[in-house]
Amino acid sequence: MARAASSSPSSSPLPFSPPSSILIIGSGVFGLSTALALARRDDFAHCSITVVDRSDTAQPGVFPSPDAASIDTSRIIRADYADPAYAALGDEAQVQWRKQDEPADLGGQGRYSETGLILVGDFTPPAPSAAPSADGGLKQKPKLTGMDYARLSWANVLSLAAKDPELAARVRELPDSEAIREALGTGGSSGFWGYINHNSGWANAAATMAWFLDEVQQTGRVNFIAGTVVSLEHDETTVTGTKLSDGRVLSADLIVVAAGAWTGGLVDLGGQAVATGQVMAYVELTQAEQDELANTPVILNLSSGHFIIPPTNRVLKIARHAYGYLNPTTLLTNPPLPLNPAITPPTTVSLPRTALTDPSLSIPRDAELDLRYALQEMIPWSTLRNRPFSKTRLCWYSDTATGDFLIDYHPYWRGLFVATGDSGHAFKFLPVIGDKIADCIVREPPAEFRGKWDWKVTEGSRRDVFTEDGTRGGTPGLVLADVLPEEHGRA
Ligand SMILES: Cc1cc2nc3c(=O)[nH]c(=O)nc-3n(C[C@H](O)[C@H](O)[C@H](O)COP(=O)(O)OP(=O)(O)OC[C@H]3O[C@@H](n4cnc5c(N)ncnc54)[C@H](O)[C@@H]3O)c2cc1C
Repeated sequence: MARAASSSPSSSPLPFSPPSSILIIGSGVFGLSTALALARRDDFAHCSITVVDRSDTAQPGVFPSPDAASIDTSRIIRADYADPAYAALGDEAQVQWRKQDEPADLGGQGRYSETGLILVGDFTPPAPSAAPSADGGLKQKPKLTGMDYARLSWANVLSLAAKDPELAARVRELPDSEAIREALGTGGSSGFWGYINHNSGWANAAATMAWFLDEVQQTGRVNFIAGTVVSLEHDETTVTGTKLSDGRVLSADLIVVAAGAWTGGLVDLGGQAVATGQVMAYVELTQAEQDELANTPVILNLSSGHFIIPPTNRVLKIARHAYGYLNPTTLLTNPPLPLNPAITPPTTVSLPRTALTDPSLSIPRDAELDLRYALQEMIPWSTLRNRPFSKTRLCWYSDTATGDFLIDYHPYWRGLFVATGDSGHAFKFLPVIGDKIADCIVREPPAEFRGKWDWKVTEGSRRDVFTEDGTRGGTPGLVLADVLPEEHGRA
């Protein structure tokens, strides 16, 4: 693992001893699951645990903030990954999601629906970096295409399902677009090859987060504070607390920054993760349409990034898992914490712009047309063709180059830990990721994620980040203000 400075105070692997206080910034999937895992560990029985989130003060007690990535109508729950480590973690999480018999179960009360997932790809040419060089060799390791990802994922889910013939029987190849159309059952299709995995499904994200918050609160161990952190308090070597926008200072022995796509505004991540805005649109349905789509599978085209999840409460969501939009934001008064005191932090960082702080915000026009295309391709009903979107939304990922999370101690600052870099796929891990983060906090990171979740930046390694894990559609590097309708241009 590369370190920012070999003489950094935090770089020696110290034996772990539980701190007396922990402050977690952010109550999304990463922050809330960490709080629960720590609250349940005997080692932390004498540690005070506080969670702070920029939650709406007009709605006290609502965590996380309504514009958090973790809050939405739905999220795909899958073990369908090209990387066996994430496939296995997804499989572990699904054991919890499938607990549905009791209202108190994670997947109960309609929070989880196992309607299956169709994962498909288009036959796209190899990405530019895989192009042959003049001497006939490859310039660098080829990037995965959406189709490559789908095929690797297919192999991984078959291997996971091999332990149980019932599970294995629920995974089936879809060799062409007609097979995909038949499996989808809406009359629509997408992609040229794929498979259906009836062991995957989707969760009602907002309802699940409310249930999970209740679980955390029931431990009686976690103190919640509504407030916006504007900076981290520190001395020369150690982060000691946070300052809130209302002037309050919260101190703790260990600060865990789990602020999702906002993290780069608090801590200089040195180009390891960047906030990207992703587009979604919602269509209101009749009850008959809801009933007809309720049990259809989720469909995700890894080449275009388009996906549709069955509707919730007569609302259908169409989304695009893409390179997304950057939102460069100048931080005049509170730049992020530098990599170390000798390095000037950036004053312009891509940060979320959401309808919570900017109620008139819309998505770019070309994105709206693209989502309309996806709807017509995947559900080509004449009744939906011209139905206006009832709402659109920009939702923000913390994207890393490889799609791996960033869960590690800061290499320089003592008392600082980050859990971010969700790369748009962390929701499914809600029941298991908190324990993995807690393992990293106690300096026992899971072996299969060593080298993946580590802090990787070295001094001067700052560069543009585009997630090249084979799952992204669209064009890399688009800047939101350049593509928004005129009236919503520069913030
Ligand atoms: C459009 C979209 C579709 C997705 N689809 C899927 C899917 O199908 N399946 C899947 O598994 N995952 C999916 N994801 C990804 C998943 O939702 C995220 O990976 C996960 O929710 C990230 O959790 P988080 O805790 O890192 O961030 P968040 O949920 O964004 O939480 C961060 C929290 O930090 C708080 N915060 C930020 N800054 C501050 C501050 N300065 N002071 C105080 N609080 C602060 C925020 O208010 C927020 O509540 C999707 C994400 C998006 C955006």
